[in-house]
Amino acid sequence: MNLLIIGAPGSGKGTISNNLIKDYDITHVSTGDMLRQAIAQNSPVGLRAAEYMNQGQLVPDSIIHDIIVERLSMDDIKKGFLFDGYPRTVDQAIDLSSILEQLHMKIDAVLELEIDDEILKKRITGRRLCPTCGEIYNIYSKPTKVEDICDKCGGKLITRKDDSLENLTVRLDEYHRNTQPVIEYYEKMDLVKKIDADKSADAVYDDIKSVLEGLK
Ligand code: AMP
Repeated sequence: MNLLIIGAPGSGKGTISNNLIKDYDITHVSTGDMLRQAIAQNSPVGLRAAEYMNQGQLVPDSIIHDIIVERLSMDDIKKGFLFDGYPRTVDQAIDLSSILEQLHMKIDAVLELEIDDEILKKRITGRRLCPTCGEIYNIYSKPTKVEDICDKCGGKLITRKDDSLENLTVRLDEYHRNTQPVIEYYEKMDLVKKIDADKSADAVYDDIKSVLEGLK
C-alpha cells in the first residue's frame, strides 16, 4: 500500500505516521527528516538545503526531486510507503506522478487530516513540556494540578521555542498556500480521503484504519 499523509503542523501527523508504518509494515519517507539528516551529515545536499530551511522556506524542487528518486530506488520501498511532508507543491506532485509512472508504481490514497486553524493554535500554544521527565501537558486539554508544575516529577514546565504563535502562524500560512493546491490535484484523481482530525488520537486512527480497510 502506497500512501500520502497531508496535515497542518500540530494535526497529529507524526503520531499517526508512526502507527501506520508499524501496523501496515510500510516505509516512512519524510522529506523533512531526510533533509535534517543530510544537514547533520554536512552532505552537499544538506549544505544547500540548510540555506532555505534556516529561513523557513521550502527547499527547491530540484533538490527534492533528487532525494526522492534516490529514496524510491531503495529496497524497503517495495513493501509500500507513506510519504510525509511531500509533495509540498503542485510541481512536486506532478513530478512525483511521472517518477512513479516510470517505476510502475502508484499511490493508493492521500490521507488529508482536516482541522481548524484555531484549534491547532490552542493545541500548539497550549503545549507545555517538563524538561526533567519529558511529560507533555496542555493548559487547555491536559492541565497540571498546580500551574506550570509537572504532576509526575515536580519539574517547572517550559514552552518549546518553536511552539510560539508567531512561528505557528507562519507555518500555517505556508501550509495553506502551498498544500491546498496539492490536495486539489489529488482530488481530481479521486485519491483524497478526508479525515476529521479534531478527535482523540485513538478515534482519528480508528477512522484512518476503516478508510484503509475499504481500500483492500
Ligand atoms: P517538515 O519536517 O516536513 O516540517 O520539514 C521541515 C522543512 O524542510 C520545511 O520547512 C522545508 O524547509 C523543508 N522541506 C521538507 N519537505 C519539503 C518538501 N517536500 N519540499 C520543500 N521543502 C521541504
